[in-house]
Amino acid sequence: MPQKTTFVTQPHLPPLEEFIPYLEEIWESKRLTNNGKFHEELEQKLCKYLGVPYISLFSNGTLALITALQALRITGEVITTPYSFVASTHSLWWNGIKPVFCDIEPETFNMNPDKIEALITPKTTAILPVHVYGNPCNVERIQEIADIYGLHLIYDACHTFGVKINGNSVCNFGDLSVLSFHATKVYNTFEGGAIVCHDEKTKKRIDNLKNFGFAGEITVIAPGINAKMNEVQAAFGLLQLKYIDEAIEKRKKIATFYRENLAGIEGIKYLEDIDGIRHNYAYFPILIDENTFRKSRDEVYDLYKENNIFTRRYFYPLISQFATYKGLDSAKPENLPIATKITNQVLCLPIYPDLEIETLEKIVELIKELKSGK
Ligand SMILES: *Cc1c(COP(=O)(O)O)cnc(C)c1O
Repeated sequence: MPQKTTFVTQPHLPPLEEFIPYLEEIWESKRLTNNGKFHEELEQKLCKYLGVPYISLFSNGTLALITALQALRITGEVITTPYSFVASTHSLWWNGIKPVFCDIEPETFNMNPDKIEALITPKTTAILPVHVYGNPCNVERIQEIADIYGLHLIYDACHTFGVKINGNSVCNFGDLSVLSFHATKVYNTFEGGAIVCHDEKTKKRIDNLKNFGFAGEITVIAPGINAKMNEVQAAFGLLQLKYIDEAIEKRKKIATFYRENLAGIEGIKYLEDIDGIRHNYAYFPILIDENTFRKSRDEVYDLYKENNIFTRRYFYPLISQFATYKGLDSAKPENLPIATKITNQVLCLPIYPDLEIETLEKIVELIKELKSGK
């Protein structure tokens, strides 16, 4: 019998038959995109579910990030993190902005607020942190710095769907927050994304920019892009929303299983839940310390691969190590000691709502066997 293959994630899908009526309605209406009924309904429902005032839907998270920077006219230099998915920094490149990489905290792997001020120059206009793995940044401290220096603050919140800080959506912090609804994320619309903002004027500007810059039938206010979410994506998003809490609950059980079963293995570390945070369990990263675990991260990765379990080295390499960014001063590994250490130790284990218990047991067993040298 061929061995079962397990990937780091598997998209969460609702029952197909429940999606058919939505498609029938789209066919009936012949309205496929441009603020159709499902698009408008999804914006409202997401505002309510997330607990945010305004949301603009996008065809994907990367275009939402690029547009967020344009909406606030960000230029010059932006302080960001090297420890993220590459699209975070690419969004700066696409706007002709110079990224300045800031090191991360060893506890959360998020941008270290204590390292931001030393990177600010007269050209700095904004900070672009990422809530990595869905764990919130130190939002209060970062806001204080942004306020003192008069900088905009845009969060890449692509990992953070449904995450709350003391009951308040993490997307309510900063000037703008950007979400991704890609197939691999906690909440997906096949592909998709959104920008959360705090006032109607900003929402209007964002909505114009994602539609070629049109502000009326014959008025174009900027060289906008086409980044609209279509009706099929939006309808799918409405259906997905019905199952999202159940999906997050199932993810939580998997995270709990890993924590209980990996506890006490020398050389393996994982993140714990933080008091006051409603987590979404988007990822389950572990750190493998070669000195004490006695095997390297890549040996663990390879062992899983041989067993048809495809873990991911999120985030390795650091964004600052890619050819486009490597030459920057702030990209030098000696300026990013914590990020450089974490990137060589991290491994994301499979986590998704329908991950079977037998697979989970196998994942734990394999790493224990490797440790004991069997
Ligand atoms: C997924 C992701 C993006 C990009 O979103 P897409 O919807 O795939 O374009 C950007 N930043 C982070 C941190 C992500 O995880």
